[in-house]
Amino acid sequence: MDKEHYLDNAATTPLSPGVLDLIETVLRDVYGNPSSLHRKGQEAEAYLKRAREQVAKVLMAPPEAIYFTSCATESINSALKGAARRMGKRGRHILTGTGEHAATVETLKALEDQGFEVEEIGCDKEGTTSLESLEKKLRPDTILVTSMQVNNETGCLQPVEDMARIIKKYNPDILFHVDATQGFAKYPLFPESCGIDLLSASGHKINGPKGIGFLYMRRGLHLPELILGGGQEGHFRSGTENVAYIAGLGEAAQQMWDDHAAITSRMMRLKLDFVRELLETVPQIHVNGPAVDKAAAHIVNLQVENVRSEVLLHALEDENVFISSGSACSSNHPERKSRPLAAIGKSPKEIDESFRVSLGRFTTKEDMDSCLHALQKEIPLLRRFVRR
Ligand code: PLP
Repeated sequence: MDKEHYLDNAATTPLSPGVLDLIETVLRDVYGNPSSLHRKGQEAEAYLKRAREQVAKVLMAPPEAIYFTSCATESINSALKGAARRMGKRGRHILTGTGEHAATVETLKALEDQGFEVEEIGCDKEGTTSLESLEKKLRPDTILVTSMQVNNETGCLQPVEDMARIIKKYNPDILFHVDATQGFAKYPLFPESCGIDLLSASGHKINGPKGIGFLYMRRGLHLPELILGGGQEGHFRSGTENVAYIAGLGEAAQQMWDDHAAITSRMMRLKLDFVRELLETVPQIHVNGPAVDKAAAHIVNLQVENVRSEVLLHALEDENVFISSGSACSSNHPERKSRPLAAIGKSPKEIDESFRVSLGRFTTKEDMDSCLHALQKEIPLLRRFVRR
């Protein structure tokens, strides 16, 4: 079979070989229950401890602040619902970034149904959160603010450290949650030192396994436990821990973080060359969101005039190149198909014509060239069938 060129790393990443080896070893040999008092239990517990330290190191946080979960979605749900439950008596007002992931949007909708008032912070035409708007919208009854670190569709980097400063200056009791799923271990973010109370991320975006994530919870902040049982994870999330995947997440975090500056600058160079050549050789293509060099290194979102991205995606798939269009959804609901693009004023047609190329640690020049050549070939062909 021809070589595959996987450029959908913002959706998920392939396992790093070192992580796979570790998971195999733990699954096979480290089968004790970490809560057991005997040697086999202690052996498993040591893997949990190491992984907690590896994740904590990336955030420059104490290991006790890390709670393992099944994914970022679970962490986000736990953080937002837990914060609302904890703070609900003080106020009902919640602020959110625009173009957030469904994990946040749907959780906030559920909180609205319970009587909380959810309001979006404004953003500029590239999708960057407006600090002025944040300052204006904070209120005495605001209890929670939530924002992404890196937008998963446009790569827009949000000013979360500045947001934390503004929020905490206004009222240190307001909780600030950051969805760091796309930025964790790639971009430095130290929650304890900048005033972020809660932070969510998952393993599968950093060449770790799927089905494992974590929530950072500031020391001293005790959100109500959502899963009751044997008291694992500091009573926050009961249930016997997935030791192998937790070990894999820890290892993946360390591998990415140890080399993050080199990895992100390599991805940025590959992305810049790719976009420059594409724009030079194929007409009527536009970059959505921030300028290519201002967005996160691993993401670029492009609009190809008069070509539906879903059709383009499948044409590229036939060439063994894998990219992504917004989630499949009715084109009558562009905001559901891509909230970030709708938030920056893209029309339903423009959203329909937009796709994302996302790079990873193992992306090569050959992958980018294959994608470029496939686009150079397929776009003119597909444009011949445009209904006018
Ligand atoms: N938040 C962002 C920004 C994401 O990109 C994703 C995954 O696509 C999630 C949350 C959900 O992550 P998970 O699949 O680990 O639950």
